[in-house]
Amino acid sequence: MSESTKTLCPYCGVGCGLEVSPPAARGQATHRDSQGTPIWKVKGDRAHPSSEGMVCVKGATVSESLSKNRLKAPMMRESLDRPFRRVSWDEALGAIVQRLQTVRFTQGPEAICMYGSGQFQTEDYYIAQKLLKGCLGTNNFDANSRLCMSSAVAGYIQSFGSDGPPPCYDDLEKTDCAFLIGTNTAECHPIVFNRLRKHHKRNKHVKLIVVDPRRTSTAETADLHLAIKPGTDIDLLNGIAHLLLKAGDLNTLFIDECTSGFAQYAQILEHYPPEMVADRCGIAIEDLETAARYWGESDRVLSLWSMGMNQSSEGTAKVRTLINLHLMTAQIGRPGAGPFSLTGQPNAMGGREAGGLANLLPGYRLVKNAEHRREIEQFWGVPPGRIAPEVGRTAWEMITGLETGEVGVLWIAATNPAVSMPDLERTKAALRRSPFTIYQDAYYPTETAEFAHVILPAAQWSEKTGVMTNSERTVTLCPAFRRPPGQARPDWEIFAEVGRRLGFREQFPFANSAEVYAEFVRVTRDRVCDMTGISHARLLEQGPIQWPCPLEETEIANPPNLKRLYSDWRFPTPDGRARFAAYHSKGLAEPPNPDYPFVLTTGRLYGHWHTQTRTGRIEKTTKMHPNPFIEIHPRHAAQLGIADGEMVEVRSRRGHARFPAKITRAIAPGTVFVPMHWGALWADNAEANALTHPHACPDSGQPELKACAVALAKV
Ligand code: SF4
Repeated sequence: MSESTKTLCPYCGVGCGLEVSPPAARGQATHRDSQGTPIWKVKGDRAHPSSEGMVCVKGATVSESLSKNRLKAPMMRESLDRPFRRVSWDEALGAIVQRLQTVRFTQGPEAICMYGSGQFQTEDYYIAQKLLKGCLGTNNFDANSRLCMSSAVAGYIQSFGSDGPPPCYDDLEKTDCAFLIGTNTAECHPIVFNRLRKHHKRNKHVKLIVVDPRRTSTAETADLHLAIKPGTDIDLLNGIAHLLLKAGDLNTLFIDECTSGFAQYAQILEHYPPEMVADRCGIAIEDLETAARYWGESDRVLSLWSMGMNQSSEGTAKVRTLINLHLMTAQIGRPGAGPFSLTGQPNAMGGREAGGLANLLPGYRLVKNAEHRREIEQFWGVPPGRIAPEVGRTAWEMITGLETGEVGVLWIAATNPAVSMPDLERTKAALRRSPFTIYQDAYYPTETAEFAHVILPAAQWSEKTGVMTNSERTVTLCPAFRRPPGQARPDWEIFAEVGRRLGFREQFPFANSAEVYAEFVRVTRDRVCDMTGISHARLLEQGPIQWPCPLEETEIANPPNLKRLYSDWRFPTPDGRARFAAYHSKGLAEPPNPDYPFVLTTGRLYGHWHTQTRTGRIEKTTKMHPNPFIEIHPRHAAQLGIADGEMVEVRSRRGHARFPAKITRAIAPGTVFVPMHWGALWADNAEANALTHPHACPDSGQPELKACAVALAKV
């Protein structure tokens, strides 16, 4: 292993190409981390079509995290108050299989849950689906993507008939108007933002609108920043649509020929005159009118969003209301236009393709659809009726299932719910009650390891070969270029081994991940996400490939006619039409009141990744963001007698936490902001999710992590 390896960044869904060289490749200086350990050298892969050589600080420093605090051997203990003892794989897997069988035959398969991760490679996701949904007969597989983008999935499915972001990154440089709502793209998807910012700078006519209660670094660059009150997104979007309708900025041909439901939507819009909308959103009428004018006058409008829209008790309604704007103006299926959800994790997209949520089956199929279940049962060679007709437990429902005793086994892999779930005290109490928790991860310690009965060491990115799909549907092979530490094994291998030990030998015959992937792509045939033309061998030979890529297109890596979904303006609904949705805003699930007068919003910082399992172990990123903080508007800081840097006690109905104050006009009055990266391992009593609530969107099951009511007091 002395040559450089081309791979994909394992952090965010931008999916930048990386080129990694060994610590002492010929002609290179040896790079070392702060402790003097030689580290792999990482640079951007100029040939990767999504990023063209660009990387942010997270991608550039990822190799520093690969060797620290790694789990190297399985461990077990009989109860949470006992110490772990090191065991063999055989003993650990034997105990898991025995427990799975006992629970399966006493409580039923629905008492078995797996909580996975957008850090999985597609092969891991696919084998987990086969094990849980196809063999054990439970749809209780959910991933941390539930907390990230499940509202986008539900919105796409309901509006277009299928999941799948229609645009591609080329559209960032082709658009005339970028409408960014609920996304701090500059910090959370930095390379996407670099591309957009360059285009915006070079082309004076291009408009950049940013909708965010905070004046983020993204908002700083905008032509128009709409600092709306949290929870008023639907009001704003309906208000813009009202003005577009009034100005006649519609594409009636597209509406008539390619959509359904416009008349009902137009009726709703009558209730959103600009005066009312501006007042409700807390913005100037002129700004609302400017936003509508920018949209209406632009030939090509691209909207981008992420968790600011998705993490909401009305997340699906928000996504669909945004899509409405694209439908009424035919801003879809054309270069520079379309609704584009930015995915949080590196392979949340691959998870969606593989059916990696409790409501999905592989190949963009749905658990609720009897025909889809039948197709997958046949494909997997399992008896008819094996796949349960009910949607499985979502991430939060696994927690409530522990509370009620309905969950007998919880298998957590590559994610850290003891930091990332809402209402953390309740989450931790439920985890403490779990009769049997398997925790499979690359790192130890983590906050979640504390709640495990069995711990399995997982090989991570760089140590196993598999594929990941980024936000623009581009699939990249991530080859293994290092050996896993100790006895760590790829996630898919662990799942397959358990499947075989449970007696499902025929379902798990795979010798390597290329064989797993070859089976997986066959299940995508003739689906929106058709990848039958993609294989490990082809990815290795030709580099990244965007889907759809049907087998018939194997001569061309990225056929231009398939770059964007719906370029023929036909949609995968029964009548071929996209659907308008008519929603009134319901507002926040937990609005502020005199006892809890502020809205807390949570988010991410440029240099950190989620719960810091990697970035907390990297010198550069920890120096960049050494401490948590709370952003408070100067007016409220003065009212409460809080000076910059002083500790603030924050209370919600569920818990409390303390943060040093950062007094800034970047946050709107009435709102405060806390980053979500700090768990108990990294700071005392500074968990953002100690405060948040689990109230979720009824369609997507995504909790409203973006807003809860809090009270502040100087410590
Ligand atoms: Fe990695 Fe995302 Fe940074 Fe690209 S933008 S280098 S994918 S973290």
